[in-house]
Amino acid sequence: MTTEAAPSRNVFIDDAADRRLAGDLFDALRAESFDGIGITRESFSERESTALDIVEAKAREFGLETTRDAGANLVVTLAGHEGDLPYLACGSHLDSVPQGGNFDGAAGVVAGLAVLARFKRDKIVPRRTIKLFGLRGEESSRFGKAYMGSLALFGKLTAEDLRVVDRDGRALGDCMREVGADVGRIEKGEPLLDARRIAAWVELHIEQGPVLVARELPVGIVTGIRGNVRHRNVECIGEAGHSGAVPRWLRHDAVFAVAELMTHLDRHWRTLLERGRDVVVTSGVFGTDPAEHAIARIPGKVTFSFEVRSQSKETLEGFYDLFRSECNLI
Ligand SMILES: [Zn+2]
Repeated sequence: MTTEAAPSRNVFIDDAADRRLAGDLFDALRAESFDGIGITRESFSERESTALDIVEAKAREFGLETTRDAGANLVVTLAGHEGDLPYLACGSHLDSVPQGGNFDGAAGVVAGLAVLARFKRDKIVPRRTIKLFGLRGEESSRFGKAYMGSLALFGKLTAEDLRVVDRDGRALGDCMREVGADVGRIEKGEPLLDARRIAAWVELHIEQGPVLVARELPVGIVTGIRGNVRHRNVECIGEAGHSGAVPRWLRHDAVFAVAELMTHLDRHWRTLLERGRDVVVTSGVFGTDPAEHAIARIPGKVTFSFEVRSQSKETLEGFYDLFRSECNLI
């Protein structure tokens, strides 16, 4: 970010008005999205729309200009005095995972709005226009696909993507249309946003890991985001049998097989870390079928998810190869 906007003033002073704005917004967002445990605002849902409305209403209180773009995202604009220059963008997503945290995504939107509101309150006109984006549809929990909203903005959400359905069989394209997105343009792969007009994008985001707290750091700068290779559903097929009647040498126990696989993966993971590689491995969905499993039944099938993430493409592909060769071996 350049420092050309209002160089003589510090707009990031910790101020009671900023804290009030942030507190009010977080409270309002939480009140509308609390599910009993956490925050649930599914992508392209009514709750997500409500969140955009809440932020928009607050922006208008400060006399800021608001609009919805062709992807149905909220855009709040503070005009600069050299409006022809590419603008500075900030913001984040307003959808959430099920039972998510109140700060995820929303922190970036609230922080951006606090900055714009302060410019407005102090009657500072920045050189460049600043736009705050309250984005929709970034989380993968509803449609199994992440960054749908921003992909649409860049003309990269395909017609095929638009046909994916949620657990109720509702298509992504229909849900996007319902909240006001121009699905016709998205389908054609038309960019909804002129990326050349953006000088920089600054996004504040809550850390989703424990590292800052563990190291007692108040803030950090993101230097990279891990890419991933994942399988939603891997099946290990063994052979079901009576737990009392089948001896070890005749067993094909799927749970033991997958447990062995995971142990091997864990060992590879540790080795890679020792070599200074960046990698994380997760199997978050894992189980035998409740319709047929029993305490006295040798499990004939285990289904599990597999995910590996790394900041290095090479490490990612290397680990994925290890995964497949371990599967074959076992
Ligand atoms: Zn987030």
